[in-house]
Amino acid sequence: MEEERLYDLVIKALPVGFLRVDAKGMIIDFNHAAETITGYTKEEVVDRSRSEFLHCSAEKKKCTLCEYALGRREHAIAKENFIRRKSGDCILLSVTTAPLFDQAGTFHGGIELFMDISESLKLDRERKHILAMFAHDMQNPVLIAGKFTRRLLAGKAGPPTGKQEEHLQLICEELNQLEGLVTDFHEFSRFEATKCIPVLEAVDIILILRAQVELAKLKAEDKRITLTFANPGESEMIVAADTRLISRVIDNLLDNAIRYMRMNGTVTISVSKEEEAVFVRVGDTGIGVAKDHIPYLFDAFYRVSRDLRGSGLGLSIAKTIVEAHGGKIWAESIPGQGSVFSFTIPTSGAKPAHTFQPVEQS
Ligand code: ADP
Repeated sequence: MEEERLYDLVIKALPVGFLRVDAKGMIIDFNHAAETITGYTKEEVVDRSRSEFLHCSAEKKKCTLCEYALGRREHAIAKENFIRRKSGDCILLSVTTAPLFDQAGTFHGGIELFMDISESLKLDRERKHILAMFAHDMQNPVLIAGKFTRRLLAGKAGPPTGKQEEHLQLICEELNQLEGLVTDFHEFSRFEATKCIPVLEAVDIILILRAQVELAKLKAEDKRITLTFANPGESEMIVAADTRLISRVIDNLLDNAIRYMRMNGTVTISVSKEEEAVFVRVGDTGIGVAKDHIPYLFDAFYRVSRDLRGSGLGLSIAKTIVEAHGGKIWAESIPGQGSVFSFTIPTSGAKPAHTFQPVEQS
C-alpha cells in the first residue's frame, strides 16, 4: 500500500482527535474523531487557523497550545485546554502538541492530538467534593471521641477497673490512628480544593526543628529509638516559611522515621545552609524502601506495604507544602538499612513553579 494511503488510514482510525497544521499554522488535516469532539467538519476547518475556532472565548482566542508549540518551536507538550464546540458548549480537552521538523531541521508545522476529558473532570470534581465533605464531617466526632476516651482513661469520671482500663487503652489506640487518618484526609482534601498557599514570614527553622524533635521524642520512647538533632553550627537559620505547614512536614517525616523502624534504632535530623536555601535531612536506621518504590513514595495514597497502618497521604502532603514554598523534597533509601528524607526551603521566599504561558501573537 502506498505511504500516503496508509497515512490516511492510520489518521482516520485514530481513536483520538488529530489535527495537523502547516508552517503558517493553517489546518491541513482533521480526522473523524476531531470532527466528533469539536462538532466541526474537516471541510469547515481546513485552511483556517486553529485559533480561529478552537478556543474558549474571544479573549482567550490566542491562548492555544498549537501556537505555543509552533511559536516557540518547542518539543511535544501536553496540557489541558478548554474549547467551545460548534454547538456552543464548553469542553475540556487533554491536548498533546508537537512541531514537525524534517532531517535538515526545516520546520513543517505541527500536529495536535486531543481527547475530550470533560466527563472525567466532572467526576474528579465530585470525588474532591465527597472527600472534602467526608473529611470535614468525620473530624469533629473523632476528635471528641478521642478526647473523652482519654479523660475516661485518666480516671476523670472515676477510676476504671482493670478490664475497663485495658479496653479503654485499646479504644484510645484505635482512635489515635483514626485521628491521624482523618487529619491527613482533611489536609489533603483542603489542598485539592483550594491549593496550598503558605502564609510566609521570616522564621527560624532551627527553632521549628527543635520543637518537633521534642514532640517526636515522646513517640520514640516507646520503641527505645534515639532521636538526635545534629548541631547546625549556627545559632539561627531564617527562612521565609509558614510555621504550621513546615512543622507538619517535619512531623510527617519524623513520624514515618519512627513508625518504619524496629526497636532501638536511631533517627538523625540535620539542617544546613546552602546558597539560597536551607537543607533539612531526616535519616533513620529503619526498614528502608526498595528502589522500585522510591519514585512513587510522594504520590497520594501510595503505600509500600499494608502491614503497618497509615493513610499513604503524609508524604504527598509534605511534597505539596514544600513545593508551595518553592522547595524540593526527595528520598534515598537502602532496604534493611534505613532511609534519608531531605527537603529544601528557599531563604528568600517561595518562587512559584513554572506555569504554562501561551505565546501572544501579534
Ligand atoms: P503512610 O501514612 O502510609 O506512612 P506516607 O505518605 O507518609 O504514608 O508514606 C508513604 C509510604 O512510604 C509508607 O506507606 C511507607 O511504605 C513508605 N515510607 C515513608 N517513610 C518511610 C521511612 N522513613 N522508612 C521506610 N518507609 C517509609
